[in-house]
Amino acid sequence: MSQTPPQPSRVRAEIDLDALRANVRALRARAPRSALMAVVKSDGYGHGALPCARAAIEAGAEWLGTATPQEALALRAAGVGGRIMCWLWTPGDPWREAVEADLDVSVSGMWALAEVTAAAREAGRPARVHLKADTGLGRNGCLPADWPELVSAALAGEAAGDLRVVGLWSHLACADEPGHASVADQLATFRRMVAHAEGEGVRPEVRHLANSPAVLTLPDTHFDLVRTGIAMYGVSPAPELGTAAELGLRPVMTLSASLALVKRAPAGHGVSYGHRYVTGRETVLGLVPVGYGDGVPRHASGRGPVLVGGEWRRVAGRIAMDQFVVDLDGQKVQEGAEAVLFGPGDRGEPTVQDWAEAADTIAYEIVTRIGSRVPRVYRGASA
Ligand SMILES: *Cc1c(COP(=O)(O)O)cnc(C)c1O
Repeated sequence: MSQTPPQPSRVRAEIDLDALRANVRALRARAPRSALMAVVKSDGYGHGALPCARAAIEAGAEWLGTATPQEALALRAAGVGGRIMCWLWTPGDPWREAVEADLDVSVSGMWALAEVTAAAREAGRPARVHLKADTGLGRNGCLPADWPELVSAALAGEAAGDLRVVGLWSHLACADEPGHASVADQLATFRRMVAHAEGEGVRPEVRHLANSPAVLTLPDTHFDLVRTGIAMYGVSPAPELGTAAELGLRPVMTLSASLALVKRAPAGHGVSYGHRYVTGRETVLGLVPVGYGDGVPRHASGRGPVLVGGEWRRVAGRIAMDQFVVDLDGQKVQEGAEAVLFGPGDRGEPTVQDWAEAADTIAYEIVTRIGSRVPRVYRGASA
């Protein structure tokens, strides 16, 4: 039980589940009157859906959320109880399995209401439905003009015993941009659409709107339930909102590799495909055996930071599928030395935000795309 598993040698993503639990508790304290949904879509943003789901529940999360029904069904099949909601449905998806597995499902339009109704009849039990409003994100959800039709059809389904409308919900477009005018507009539209549904007779268990940035900065959006993804993994939703530490969050994932080769190279030596880096003088090169095949973004070629032997280095030249090179200058390190791509920053290592900036993207994408070839090593797993 207390034995430490051998460290995978090439590359590993350490997942600190104690940090995840602490983040869940911190987020719950930010939204004290709301229940918390731990969003574990896309394999828990790359951290592993199942261990993260379990740790989040241990820390008090009442709900789990996924995008696809398959993701939610996989959690159920692994023995996860409680409320699990999934929201990204496509015609032909496994509605009946979802009803039988007691999932909470989202409905954004009439086609979905028809499919879930048919599935509930086949299953012989009512479906638990959350009606999704498009209050201004312009993505999934039902627009205000179409809402009365969806609400009355859902109420008819409720009267027939095919379903229960347990949730009314929506999603924000710009919660990560402090002061963005769309937030107040979406909030007002959400209130109007909820009032309409309730006026028609819908009695939702939960009304929900807030994602991580809204949980952290927009208390008016909290309602009965908040849906937290990125913040639970200890990553700031946007640098404008503060660093993870400033937000009281602790990064959960540390990505590190072991140098596969350290070698002296002469001045004028081209490095990696395309020779986008050429040594300026005699130097020492370190080979980091991880690349875009592991989810390290090629777009960070020449820029991505790595901590080796206490020093920050930048990727020299291009990131290849399986490896990249750092110029170690005069540094004395050997093969096997640790190269930390990102982590909490305690040891001076870069953070996932540094990689997001180096790759011209957001931190969400960096952690989520760390691939299946990278073993996850869990710390703080429950017995
Ligand atoms: C992904 C997602 C969330 C979580 O967003 P974070 O910004 O990661 O907290 C919440 N709600 C919906 C609908 C989502 O798709």
